[in-house]
Amino acid sequence: MPENNYELEDVTVKYKSDINSLNDSAPRDRGMYISTAKAFILAFLAIAIAVGVGIIVHFAGPGSTFECKCTYPTTDSGSSSAAMQQCKDWAAAGNAVICSACNATSYTPYPSNVSTSNPVPTGPPKTTPATPKPTVKDVRIPLHMMPIKYTVELQVFMYAPLEPAAFYFNGSVIISFECKNATDKIYLHSNKLNYTGPFRVTTENGIEDLYRNHTFDMDRQFLIVHLTQKCALNNKYILEIPHFRGPLVSDLAGLYLSSYKRGNQTIHIATSQMQPTDARKTFPCMDEPAIKAQFEVTLVRKSHMVSISNMPNISMEARGDNWFADKFKVTPKMSTYLLAFIICDFHYTKAMTENNVTYRAYARPDAIDQTPYSLETGVKILTFFEKYFNVTYPLPKQDMIAIPDFAAGAMENWGLITYRETAMLYQPGVSSAGNKQRVAIVVSHELAHQWFGNLVTPSWWDDLWLNEGFASYVEYMGVDHVHPDWKMFEQFVVEDLQDVFNFDGLISSHPVYVPVAHPDEINEIFDKISYAKGATIIRMMRFFLGDTNFQKGLTDYLRSLEYEAAFHDDLWYALGNRSAFHVKEVMDTWTLQMNYPTVMVSHNQQGRLSLKQSRYLQDPNAADPGKYVSPFGYKWEIPFTYTTSSQRRFDVTSKDITWLHKTGNDMVVMDNAIPAPGVGWVLGNPMQYGYYRVNYDRTNWDMLIQQLVTNHTVIHAINRAQIINDAWSLAQSGDLAMEVALQTTNYLDKEREYVPWAAASSQLSFVNSMLARHPLYGSFKNFMRSKTGDAFKELTMNNTGSTHLESFLRSTISDLACVYGNTRCIDEAKRLFRQWRDNPDNNPVDPGIKSTVYCTAVAEGTLDDWEFALARYRVENLAADKMRLLSALACSKDSWVLSRYLLMAIDKSSQADIRKQDAVNVIIFISRNVIGRSLAWDLFRDKWDFFLKDFGGGSFGFTNLISGLTSSFNTEFDLSQLKAFKESKNDLGSGARAFDQALEKTRSNIKWMTAHVPVIQKWLESQNT
Ligand SMILES: [Zn+2]
Repeated sequence: MPENNYELEDVTVKYKSDINSLNDSAPRDRGMYISTAKAFILAFLAIAIAVGVGIIVHFAGPGSTFECKCTYPTTDSGSSSAAMQQCKDWAAAGNAVICSACNATSYTPYPSNVSTSNPVPTGPPKTTPATPKPTVKDVRIPLHMMPIKYTVELQVFMYAPLEPAAFYFNGSVIISFECKNATDKIYLHSNKLNYTGPFRVTTENGIEDLYRNHTFDMDRQFLIVHLTQKCALNNKYILEIPHFRGPLVSDLAGLYLSSYKRGNQTIHIATSQMQPTDARKTFPCMDEPAIKAQFEVTLVRKSHMVSISNMPNISMEARGDNWFADKFKVTPKMSTYLLAFIICDFHYTKAMTENNVTYRAYARPDAIDQTPYSLETGVKILTFFEKYFNVTYPLPKQDMIAIPDFAAGAMENWGLITYRETAMLYQPGVSSAGNKQRVAIVVSHELAHQWFGNLVTPSWWDDLWLNEGFASYVEYMGVDHVHPDWKMFEQFVVEDLQDVFNFDGLISSHPVYVPVAHPDEINEIFDKISYAKGATIIRMMRFFLGDTNFQKGLTDYLRSLEYEAAFHDDLWYALGNRSAFHVKEVMDTWTLQMNYPTVMVSHNQQGRLSLKQSRYLQDPNAADPGKYVSPFGYKWEIPFTYTTSSQRRFDVTSKDITWLHKTGNDMVVMDNAIPAPGVGWVLGNPMQYGYYRVNYDRTNWDMLIQQLVTNHTVIHAINRAQIINDAWSLAQSGDLAMEVALQTTNYLDKEREYVPWAAASSQLSFVNSMLARHPLYGSFKNFMRSKTGDAFKELTMNNTGSTHLESFLRSTISDLACVYGNTRCIDEAKRLFRQWRDNPDNNPVDPGIKSTVYCTAVAEGTLDDWEFALARYRVENLAADKMRLLSALACSKDSWVLSRYLLMAIDKSSQADIRKQDAVNVIIFISRNVIGRSLAWDLFRDKWDFFLKDFGGGSFGFTNLISGLTSSFNTEFDLSQLKAFKESKNDLGSGARAFDQALEKTRSNIKWMTAHVPVIQKWLESQNT
């Protein structure tokens, strides 16, 4: 899947979080429905048995004719209504699986809106909406005819004398099916394709044409082929669609147009992004993840181009007029969303893995020298995963390609992974350590998917998190294997865990497992919850299961379900079978309800602790929109661990766990190692393996803070980061005095490790964004300058000979020092930039501090400095450098310059300097500048139709844009503007959830200001005197 867009991070220091942003073996004759249905029954029965109560109800879901007979459990809170309501919501959301699970007495999935009057051979009208409105929920395709094999041919027309506006592609497809339900209709997905000529439907050996006509259901993106008679059960049929045509445009979806410049020449290439629902925009197919089939692909190209697809090329046929048809080996059984078709003029570098998998790295010819690092890393990690999963990589080749225009970070197409240039290309001496880690992480993430997602695929997008969370966790294992000195598992807590804590502390969050139907809803959940929370709870699971059980369970899971689809319970069973734990009972509490707990550790006497869990909410008084109901009353199964000042043990294992159960009862721990209150400290969640916060009595907080001041190294770097992050977040929710949070910064002038600084920097950047327009900002700036002064003096801006993490720390400290007005830092940045301006071909700035230097020089410099940065942006060949310059251009303190830059970002003309994939980032960069904030927000409102049309249907861009623009809103005036704007729009595209989150965040920020500014003022006064 499209890996999330990390551009906002890798342009500055490595970690600069924007705190506000964001087996069954049953016959599969009905595909995933059967498997999923069974899993649901098991899921509900498990809960029902656990509480011993069940009730039977009937209901009809709104808007369709669902009528199910279901057994529902009661919940621990004693009410069955919550679970029932959840079921009804799922059914209403189009999850027919609920009915299957409930012995449906009747189920009519597509009762209306199916047009039958369209005569052949007309295609869909040209008025197909660019962003379908989420008016229909029952979008699942009927499974009466199941595809076995597709033979697809595509020919792209993107060559002169055609103008880009007229580019298109032609295609044909032959699909063999098996009849699973006597029906006279074949349902396929199709979007934005035009069809000419009649189709043909025959039995396997038959000559009689059973084709009657075809129609379209535009709301559901269905192409319905009507037959002259019903198919015979279990017989095979062949559908031939001889000709369809689609537009080739640069919309980053399906088969799309990309381009790049070589000298003055614009080179056009065709590439693809199918996930989640755009294979149907490339050829008619049954475009759902569980409907797997084999694919035989032919791509037709001109002689000066090459074509690439998931499998190796096996033949080439001359078609005349300089056309050549490349045929590819038939794929294994796979999902449509993992297909990839590329026609380009790229070059490649090549290596072989230990198991003789051919690995090639493609890039545009000018960037081919930037491929060796990703190629070498890919080969090592592919081999590592083969050994770790104990399952051989199933394809004969693995290609990676850096695409100039790409919506996400990367996409794990089986055997042909596509990347954004910044996620694959690395140039030693020019790219930063952060760029290098970003490449390694994305390569590792996408390779993990080759097993987890590609070999075994989630049955439906509601289990997207299983794919993404898993890949987002094991990506750390892959990189740790290649670079053990990078301390990837330390970085995990700030990169993923603490980052998603912030997002998941909102009442407008969502459960990890979330029902989705319409493509807009599917796109909406490619978010931090699916990725980072998924990864975090998988890490916690590995901790309580132990490494060996975890690894063996994964192998069992992959082997038993290879080439098939899975439900998350399949993973719980595989892992549970390898351990003594009831994995599902634990994990359901983390996946079926949103948010997370705080464990209150009461330390009142020597040798004794009492533990109590409660739900953490950033704003405990926020009104619950009621969209999700917790089946567990917001109580969790928590693997609690602790250490003390006398033990100082950070090597905790599953043997050290005290379980806090979802019954919510308090636990008491008796242990001689627990010191007397006020004499020593207790620390919960060593290494932060658990997805929970820890709070203490004030005396214990004081002891922890005292320890940091006297000798912070006694506490592990991960837990120093945890103390800072927990204290500030608990202060934000009102569970702890802000004074305590402020005191966690006392020791920072002595801190020289990256991870705690990353946590502090993240918290303090939030304070910065809140105070940026407040009279108190001057005092805050002084405070921050004093906290970073010693560290900057010691580290300087000279990165020569630094280790990876030293380089990260230097980036963080330099950035803070310059931003808060350290004159040595600013002078040095200006000097280096001037040196570069004087000799543009010889950049003297170390890659690790480029972001700081460029931004500082633009902010403190002249218009000429800004123009120089823009000119360099235009000519730089390394995508990561281009991104740093784009970010720096937003640092200007001139509002007219920022206005000009904003308009450049949304310029769609052929002369535009900024690629569409980068436009959202530029706008967010500008909005983070205190001077640019209102400019960007005004532009967004003014050009709403443009943004909705261009970004509203996409996976990440729109959500990032909305959360980025509004992240520092903290006044009643901001809130009323946001509310009024949201209410004035009928269609919010894929941004609906982001607007809700922005509203909640703004309310929370307002409360933060009211509650904490007086305390911070007092604190700052005491610090600066
Ligand atoms: Zn992914």
